[in-house]
Amino acid sequence: MIHYRTDKEIELLRQAALLVGKTLGEVGKHIRPGIRTIELDKIAEEFIRDHGAIPAFKGYEGFPGSLCISVNDAVVHGIPGNYELRDGDIVSVDCGTILNGYVGDSAYTFTVGEVSEEIQLFLQRSKESLYKGIEQAVSGNRIGDIGYAVQSYVEQFGYGVVRELVGHGVGRKLHEDPQVPNYGKRGTGIKLSEGMVIAIEPMITLGKRNIVQEKDGWTIKTKDGMPAAHFEHDVAIRNGKAEILSSFEWIEGNQ
Ligand code: MG
Ligand code: MG
Repeated sequence: MIHYRTDKEIELLRQAALLVGKTLGEVGKHIRPGIRTIELDKIAEEFIRDHGAIPAFKGYEGFPGSLCISVNDAVVHGIPGNYELRDGDIVSVDCGTILNGYVGDSAYTFTVGEVSEEIQLFLQRSKESLYKGIEQAVSGNRIGDIGYAVQSYVEQFGYGVVRELVGHGVGRKLHEDPQVPNYGKRGTGIKLSEGMVIAIEPMITLGKRNIVQEKDGWTIKTKDGMPAAHFEHDVAIRNGKAEILSSFEWIEGNQ
């Protein structure tokens, strides 16, 4: 069932989404070679709770962390642990908050120390694909227009789009209808209309798009071991526009 949100609800969703942006900014300040991913998780959990919110991922279907932290060939759903970040790593951090009963959900792939030009370009283009998708999130378009925009943008560079995991509606729950694939055909799928709020989250691979799940039951990795990127915004379809509720400004101010 798709929910159509009132202006008041969209403001509440924005507050939750902005807190995610601030949390990712805080986490970003601490990303450097030598820090363990569990330490980043602690920083995020404290920050979220200090702001009167609840980490949405903690305990979600049994997930142990407040963040999903996915390094290099890990695409999404990485469990924070004792791994120490190294110079040249890329690390995708996905964060969710519940504030006043509404959920924010946003993700960003950070670099650790110096990364190659190939990786920098890969991250830049992966992030760009998110905005290509967002541009299509307007009333009257269809869900397939979003996926088509993401897919056609990244595939021209030879990158892959993960198919098995998708974006989603976001509201009082972390995952609501509809599903928002990052691939698709123009003009297909459900119609987008005023008041829908969706998380658009391309998962892009530098190599082939195929994925495998680790034995931990959570971490999704690329099958070929090549790096993957993940960028996510919460977007409201409103007044004929795609209104981005989350923000990377606290992250990119730090970098
Ligand atoms: Mg997310
Ligand atoms: Mg999401």
